Amino acid sequence: MEIACLDLEGVLIPEIWINFAEKTGIEALRATTRDIPDYDQLMQQRLRLLDEHKLGYKEIQEVISTLEPLEGAVEFINWLKENFQVVILSDTFYEFSQPLMRQLGFPTLLCHRLEISKDGRVVDYKIRQKDPKRQSVKAFHGLNYRVIAAGDSYNDTTMLAEADQGILFMAPDNVIAEFPQFPAVHTYDDLKSEFIKASVRNLSA
Ligand SMILES: [Mg+2]
Repeated sequence: MEIACLDLEGVLIPEIWINFAEKTGIEALRATTRDIPDYDQLMQQRLRLLDEHKLGYKEIQEVISTLEPLEGAVEFINWLKENFQVVILSDTFYEFSQPLMRQLGFPTLLCHRLEISKDGRVVDYKIRQKDPKRQSVKAFHGLNYRVIAAGDSYNDTTMLAEADQGILFMAPDNVIAEFPQFPAVHTYDDLKSEFIKASVRNLSA
């Protein structure tokens, strides 16, 4: 039995906060952990900015529904679902990713959630657990699944290491250089080939 675990942002869809900042024109929302290393501080700033600009759950969904999956992502995930049980492991929030997940046909997604008040304001966020991607792969191993995982960034590397085979997809050069143990590919066709190679079954493209 084999499960394919995929990261979401940078692998199937664009980076949500960056695109959200662009669509809304709120420059300060572009900040990432590179600018504010303390994640909790960063999230509190984001929530404050959403509130200041009167962007509640409904408005967020409207903005994000104008975004699209990366070109070729829908075809790729359809192929993957035919050949593997597919689970998306992401550090995004359900409320943020929903409109894009709809375009991907709602594959199983394990991530975090935002807390929405009755009047639709985003009041807090809830992280599911620490090192969630790695913990998920460990749990699938506990269920006797073999795991092949693909991701693009640092927050994926513990997941890739825990998996039976990890693959870097469209990763930046510094990540590729730092983790030479993982094959690194940049197109969905090549990613498909890596999944076929990593599988213990006889799959065809
Ligand atoms: Mg990513």
